[in-house]
Amino acid sequence: MTIEETIGRNIIEESIQKIIEMDKIINSVLRIEKVVGNKNGKYFGIPFLVKDNILVKGTKTTNASKILENYISPYTATAVQKLLEAGFSLIGKTNMDEFAMGNTNENSYFGPVRNPKDLSRVSGGSSGGSAAAVGAGYVPFSLGTDTGGSVRLPASFCGVVGFKPSYGMISRYGVTSFASSLDQIGILSNSVKDVSLVVEIIKGKDKNDPTTLSHTVDLTSNLERDLSDIKICIPKIVYDTDLNISIKNSFNEAVDFLKAKGSKVEVIDIPELEYSVAVYYIIAPSEASSNLARFDGVRYGFRNASLGLNDMYRTTREIGFGIEVKRRIIMGTFNLSADYYSKYYSKALKVRRIISDKLYNILDEYDVMMTPTSPSIPPYMGEKFNPLEYYLMDTFTIPANLAGLPAINIPFGLIEGLPFGIQFIGRQMKDEELLAIANTFHESAKKEFEKNV
Ligand code: GLN
Repeated sequence: MTIEETIGRNIIEESIQKIIEMDKIINSVLRIEKVVGNKNGKYFGIPFLVKDNILVKGTKTTNASKILENYISPYTATAVQKLLEAGFSLIGKTNMDEFAMGNTNENSYFGPVRNPKDLSRVSGGSSGGSAAAVGAGYVPFSLGTDTGGSVRLPASFCGVVGFKPSYGMISRYGVTSFASSLDQIGILSNSVKDVSLVVEIIKGKDKNDPTTLSHTVDLTSNLERDLSDIKICIPKIVYDTDLNISIKNSFNEAVDFLKAKGSKVEVIDIPELEYSVAVYYIIAPSEASSNLARFDGVRYGFRNASLGLNDMYRTTREIGFGIEVKRRIIMGTFNLSADYYSKYYSKALKVRRIISDKLYNILDEYDVMMTPTSPSIPPYMGEKFNPLEYYLMDTFTIPANLAGLPAINIPFGLIEGLPFGIQFIGRQMKDEELLAIANTFHESAKKEFEKNV
């Protein structure tokens, strides 16, 4: 289902009905919340879903955490507000990893999200509910957030398009902060056209978010690009990483497909990328430990009030947060402590700068960078990994967050019946170029697959 196909119809009730009937097992929608959009808007009648870390006034925003289980949003996020004004109607909030920390959506206080394409497997995370809901066909699009890959990874696992715009394209006002220098709202849908349409509506400078930038090129009007005219680079790390063999084969198929269309594809060594996961897992937990300090039982959400003040703080956080969130807070607090700040945190910032500069220089020469979105196929529910194994699932997605670059997951066929996705990374604030290449690739790949069935 796409926005384009739905314009002019009212499918709000039909979508809500689908969720009620189908979502008990998938568990992608935490609550139905009906906020009807502007009746005179072009898109009236079209529903969307929003990740539960984005505020909608008067409704709950739980971040899939016990600590915010009953938290009511005092205002509406800018991105949601703009969609409502354009006529779209919000019909619910989606499940996620607690505070957007995770890759499989198994860190939710409200239970995991199943993959709609194979119920024995995870949806991916942390925007797993937003990806599964689009994959299951409830709505044409949803909003998620992407700090290290949380839109692209679940999009890849659920077989949908997932786009993280350049840092600054979309206001973060009304988004629960995880790692503010990396966080960005992203869009999940079934086509690049729809993604472009939604970003065009919600993008732009916002006085409530000083990190927003103005972007004046229309994202929807020029979505075709001659693939024989583009230069693509593949970072060598893709071939050095321990990839599932089927992923390797499917990725090579995508490369051959592009070469057959005339694209120039080159493998280049970017040794700096080896450090991106390490750098991310210093910077993101450090920012998170600071951002999450406000959840102490005083102003927001859950409070364990039976004890004195100090014990109230301690036990509220002990009971209110899940294990992964606590792990991040502890790591972050350690990294920022006086003795380790310069050893870890400030060093990570320097390496982040080196990685970013390298990527900017490379993307001066190449139109896009290409990788598989995930190094692995969607794991089974409950398949146990150690934290490091989870963290490595972000190997290909993190660099775009570190450098603020736009990046997109495009579905490309199936592996053992499961969706597989290609990631394209583009130039900073040139999201229109990336979207045009991604759209042309997606549409021509779909035609090719149809031909082969
Ligand atoms: N998987 C990464 C993490 O757990 C990324 C999360 C995200 O993008 N929100 O931090």
